[in-house]
Amino acid sequence: MKTFECGSLVPGCEWHTSAEEEAEIVHRAVDHLREVHGERVMRESMVENVKQRIHDDGSDRAA
Ligand SMILES: [Zn+2]
Repeated sequence: MKTFECGSLVPGCEWHTSAEEEAEIVHRAVDHLREVHGERVMRESMVENVKQRIHDDGSDRAA
């Protein structure tokens, strides 16, 4: 399972999302950034910024 925490990109935001697919997280994060933050934080580099901050929580690794 992978997780993205918006607070790593937008200090103070507590929104986060988890999914198995990086693409799904990017999709949700982009929607969130547009709706909540008005996309003012970043533009063309938004996807890269999100990807760089996705981390694997390891919950599906040790099984
Ligand atoms: Zn946010």
